[in-house]
Amino acid sequence: MRKQIAAANWKMNLTYEQGEKLLQDILAVKIPGQAHQQVIFAVPFPYLIMAKTAVAERTDYSIAAQNCYSKKSGAYTGEVSAEMLYSIGIRYCVIGHSERREYFQESDEMLAEKINLLLVQETTPVFCCGEPLEVRKAAGQNKHVETQLQKSLFHLTAEQVSKLVIAYEPIWAIGTGQTATTEQAQEMHAFLRSVLEKQWGKETAEAVSILYGGSVKASNAAELFACPDVDGGLVGGASLVAQDFVQIIKALK
Ligand code: PEP
Repeated sequence: MRKQIAAANWKMNLTYEQGEKLLQDILAVKIPGQAHQQVIFAVPFPYLIMAKTAVAERTDYSIAAQNCYSKKSGAYTGEVSAEMLYSIGIRYCVIGHSERREYFQESDEMLAEKINLLLVQETTPVFCCGEPLEVRKAAGQNKHVETQLQKSLFHLTAEQVSKLVIAYEPIWAIGTGQTATTEQAQEMHAFLRSVLEKQWGKETAEAVSILYGGSVKASNAAELFACPDVDGGLVGGASLVAQDFVQIIKALK
């Protein structure tokens, strides 16, 4: 079975102490993880080492950065490289979240560079894609996400792409409380897998975990994750509440 993943995206929330407490509260609940399941916490840069230390005893719990820069190293004040993340033991990094695309003008080409650098560092990119509301209203969502994949991923080999995690996050569902229906999620995830298959073949397409993100909650996670092509979720708001995220982890297939 493909990896089933519950990924928390804390964004720019919580103080250090609050983050530490949230992790402790989640870890205090002994959820028996299965071999094909993974829990990831994408935390702010200053909390990476604390979070990594907190989950050190759980091989099925990992820590992710929320971003890295598109250059290897050098005079880029304030930025963090893939190599730096690797050097502190981080093996996952969220790339191309719609908030970064929108507020920081991250282009598909820039994301391709970030992915290249992460793969050199044996770090798994969690690549986000998804359409805005006006595109969905005009029924252009498939073309939109296909273009995002084409511009940021199509230069990769099958071996490289099979190391990625993809997160489909319709922008109209992020932080809005308006979740995609299970039909909408399954339809898009199956489409994404068909794009992967066309480009790299069936075996690769079947190997890549595709997460759904956009107002996943304790109350809707199980039905979303039950969809055959939905391999878990990337969760913002609900990942900040211990009991809610615990329920979401328990909802994994
Ligand atoms: C996200 O930011 O990745 C996200 C899905 O947020 P939320 O769950 O709050 O919609």
